Amino acid sequence: MEKLILIKYGELTTKKENINLFLHTLKENIQFKLKEEKVEIKYDKGRMFIKGLKDNYDQVLLKLKEIFGIHEIVVGYELKSLNLEDIKKEVFSLLKDKDFTTFKVETKRSNKSIEKTSIEISSEIGAFLLKNKKGIRVDVHNPSLTIYIEIRTNGSYIYFETEPGLGGYPVGTLGKGILMLSGGIDSPVAGYMTIKRGVKLEALYFESPPHTSLEAKNKVIALAKILSKYNNDIKLHIINFTEIQEAIYKNIPHEYLITIMRRMMYRIAQIIANKSNAKILVNGESIGQVASQTLTSMKTINEVVNLPVIRPVACFDKLEIIEIAKKIATYETSILPFEDCCTIFVPDHPVINPDSKLCEEYEKCIPYKDLIYTAIKNHEILKITENDKKNFEELL
Ligand code: ATP
Ligand code: MG
Repeated sequence: MEKLILIKYGELTTKKENINLFLHTLKENIQFKLKEEKVEIKYDKGRMFIKGLKDNYDQVLLKLKEIFGIHEIVVGYELKSLNLEDIKKEVFSLLKDKDFTTFKVETKRSNKSIEKTSIEISSEIGAFLLKNKKGIRVDVHNPSLTIYIEIRTNGSYIYFETEPGLGGYPVGTLGKGILMLSGGIDSPVAGYMTIKRGVKLEALYFESPPHTSLEAKNKVIALAKILSKYNNDIKLHIINFTEIQEAIYKNIPHEYLITIMRRMMYRIAQIIANKSNAKILVNGESIGQVASQTLTSMKTINEVVNLPVIRPVACFDKLEIIEIAKKIATYETSILPFEDCCTIFVPDHPVINPDSKLCEEYEKCIPYKDLIYTAIKNHEILKITENDKKNFEELL
């Protein structure tokens, strides 16, 4: 009998034709996450099996809980036999010294060549245990121990406890997106929610030195590093936005600063997306949160791009966003007090209902196409992985 980890897929099993793409990608993602553990991974359409583990189950379980596409994780035992007598003996040997009072057996028999039904198998194993172990009884409603038996094509599996996985789709199965990542609370959460749907993200940060500090940049890198846990690794594009922002500040009525600044960000994000073969832009906008996130503002800003813009937190309250930020451990970094380029140039009275035609007129006052071209040509790209030796949190 070999101790191993079983992965249950959940929603993935609803994928009919392209299920192999999902399972193959999940396998690759697990392999990437566990590359230091030297495990062997096999799968069929029902389960994935991780073998070759030493004594590192706890560590492996923690890592598996950071991988999207996993519905449940189970540490169990594989028996290279489909014979009920063998299964009974193994179940007994696993439980003879275990302390429990009530139990039930749940059998899943995906191998239909076995004659007995699942219910018959469960009751035979139950009866065998009752006969051989003192002080236990069956309780099908509220047992202190559930014994799961799965009889599959090549073997039988025994396990007792299941742990929840993150759900969602394996990252990469749904293509690529560009996340506009600021140092705030909302955009890392938006990124996490998008990765959950199988989208591999590249992040894009606009910095405005010297108006924004190196700490502000390191904060974004630290956030990208947290997101990289779920994204395998993450490419972070850093655009120097200073010249564009200063040109806007000097030439455009201040109530339109934010609207036009965000139109420039969107334009750049779309160019980066097209170069990276990304199909969507993602950001942390939330309806009504600030002047640039009224419906009219969103429309006026959105008009400069034609890629879909996904806003996962659009309909969340700030408190709901904060709850997720705490859960994924981006919150503590997000609330560090380093100014982002938006906050520095915020006017006293930003327009709430910006007019597109006016934006176009104002934009004629700045050579924005040239400025965008230069900013993209000179932009910095970092590849960030969760195991990066450089610890950006410490630089903050
Ligand atoms: P967050 O929304 O992440 O908490 P924020 O509230 O400071 O940060 P907003 O002004 O609400 O940011 O901007 C809305 C969205 O625009 C952000 O969620 C982010 O996706 C994007 N964004 C804002 N500033 C930047 C920036 N400097 N670099 C990249 N994206 C940005
Ligand atoms: Mg915000």
